[in-house]
Amino acid sequence: MPRERATPAATGKPLSAPQKALQKLGLVRDIDLALHLPLRYEDETRIVKLADAREGDSVQIEGEVTACEVAYRPRRQLLVTVNDGSDSCVLRFFNFYPSQQKALAVGARIRARGELRGGFLGWTMMHPHTRVAGGELPTALTPVYPTVAGLPQPYLRKAVIGGLRHAELADTLPPEVAATLQLKPLWTLKQALEFLHHPTPDVSLAQLEDHSHPAWQRLKAEELLAQQLSQLQARREREHLRAPQLHARGAGSLHERLLAALPFQLTGAQRRVCEEIAQDLTQAKPMHRLLQGDVGSGKTVVAALSAAICIDAGWQCALMAPTEILAEQHFRKLITWLEPLGVRVAWLTGSQKKKERSAMLELIARGAAGLVVGTHAVIQEQVQFKNLALAIIDEQHRFGVAQRLALRSKTNGEDLEPHMLMMTATPIPRTLAMSYYADLDVSTIDELPPGRSPIVTKVVSEQRRAEVIERIRGQLEQGRQVYWVCPLIEESEALDLTNATETHAELSAALPGVMVGLLHSRMPVAEKKAVMERFVSGQMGVLVSTTVIEVGVDVPNATLMVIEHAERFGLSQLHQLRGRVGRGAAASACVLLYSTGDAPRLGEVARARLKAMAETNDGFEIARRDLELRGPGEFLGARQSGAALLRFADLATDSHLLAWARAAAPVMLDRHPAQAERHVARWLGSRTDYLKA
Ligand code: ADP
Ligand code: MG
Repeated sequence: MPRERATPAATGKPLSAPQKALQKLGLVRDIDLALHLPLRYEDETRIVKLADAREGDSVQIEGEVTACEVAYRPRRQLLVTVNDGSDSCVLRFFNFYPSQQKALAVGARIRARGELRGGFLGWTMMHPHTRVAGGELPTALTPVYPTVAGLPQPYLRKAVIGGLRHAELADTLPPEVAATLQLKPLWTLKQALEFLHHPTPDVSLAQLEDHSHPAWQRLKAEELLAQQLSQLQARREREHLRAPQLHARGAGSLHERLLAALPFQLTGAQRRVCEEIAQDLTQAKPMHRLLQGDVGSGKTVVAALSAAICIDAGWQCALMAPTEILAEQHFRKLITWLEPLGVRVAWLTGSQKKKERSAMLELIARGAAGLVVGTHAVIQEQVQFKNLALAIIDEQHRFGVAQRLALRSKTNGEDLEPHMLMMTATPIPRTLAMSYYADLDVSTIDELPPGRSPIVTKVVSEQRRAEVIERIRGQLEQGRQVYWVCPLIEESEALDLTNATETHAELSAALPGVMVGLLHSRMPVAEKKAVMERFVSGQMGVLVSTTVIEVGVDVPNATLMVIEHAERFGLSQLHQLRGRVGRGAAASACVLLYSTGDAPRLGEVARARLKAMAETNDGFEIARRDLELRGPGEFLGARQSGAALLRFADLATDSHLLAWARAAAPVMLDRHPAQAERHVARWLGSRTDYLKA
């Protein structure tokens, strides 16, 4: 069996430019090189007669040079005419060396490879590859690899060949598992890779290009299997961890008293997810559950009821939200629900005064605070819990893996892990959930509280801005409130601000006697709070805001949302924003104001987004279309999800392979654990830690 070679990086010697480029591409181990697959191929296996060729073909010709001259028309260029017996072709070079000119002298027999163009003067090729004629033709297609500047194809090709030769490529799929793949021919991994790097010319190029060839299928299946294996492993490891068992739902319990005190009845969906969570909390292993529910579906009360179980059992619960305003909104709601029932709720945030903060830290460390609500401040080192048993993360996708891990590792004195509940309003389409979140249990609130009237969404051109302002006036006259959101332009905070301040001035002038507020990302926290308070209390009629995130508030009296430059927002973002209205019984509307700028019309994708918004209010449908428009990489955000993104497999077309991998993973782990381990190491290398968070 070949041994892994010491890579250049490991020898400690300084790296050459192409070696550095290899490293930049992540091509470090032999296996990485072996798994670096061609983008496309060039056919050098055949010589084509010019008489048989068509314009646009990439071909290789062989013939005799009949003319070679340097011309100035207008740039200096070398023009070489080659005749292959059937026709002739002019090779045109703008940059050339004297040595090249010599090799292409009249009478020389050469081979040239490039794209054929027809023209007034007959066939031409721009900058073809040339070499001396004769010599054996290769028997395989020539691979063209994805590369970066400073890493020429010939160097990369050689490196890949070396990787292929030295990589340890013994199959990790035991025959019983490989057989279930039903691929014909059923090659080994090594055969599949050798084929993909150097396919024989009789192959269907279409099958190679759309990755439906069995060799590609084999690779994609292996990749998906690695992903499923590592997640299954993580799940099983977690099953060995221990967590406090929390059963506190009987008569007279905090949970029951909170239910009785709520001003509303839970929806069926809320009751179901509460039951799922409560069941997990009774287990001696930590819960790892994602609660997904559309904006406004009522996730907070589910969090509160779960916290109640935990606190009643004598343990602490922490709730972390991504922004101060969101966290504070939770804090207020949770205090009104829980403090009358005798629960101390602590508050932690970055902007807190030192004195208040130490008082809070002390309450938490002593265990006097049953519930701790806050921002990232909750996971800071100084925060010591007495006995944390449940960690709840709102809008989990806004947190990185490290932050989720930090919360999980907050000690609780007894070497027990806390239960984790992650909440999100961005539902994850089923195929993605199966693939990237396979180790999570998922609960879904698929029903909105009763009495909400559906939001009517209108897509309106910027040219009708005046009508929109009229509409705002109408809402205000009925005692309603209005949000006006301006886009967040990340590259230019100055521009971002101009847009919002101008709109603020415009609306203030157009609506005399109405309090119009402004909220933007650069404002000090205290000022933001003051503005929010006035809007929440109803004094302020219109809130102009750029801080998309911090509009995450609950003001049921707000019935109209205008989104300016809606074409610049992502689909999920638009949907989240829209969810801020339609929270009461009154009819609500969302106006998507778009501008085409200098263009005659909106771009295709922007149009598709706005259309989707107008057509549906269903968060799952929105998520599905968003995935379609953006692809999983962007949808998940590699950093946030921490999931190793798939390189080869495409969840949209490879769901059958995903299904196979899901079934194969437990078989591998149970019956072939050594192979499973090798498989994961081969495919995921050092990335596996990430998958465990
Ligand atoms: P989200 O899931 O977006 O976090 P919230 O928890 O903020 O939603 O709930 C939205 C609003 O609906 C809040 O005002 C909340 O009190 C209210 N609510 C939650 N559940 C119900 C219910 N079952 N019946 C009526 N109102 C509810
Ligand atoms: Mg919420």
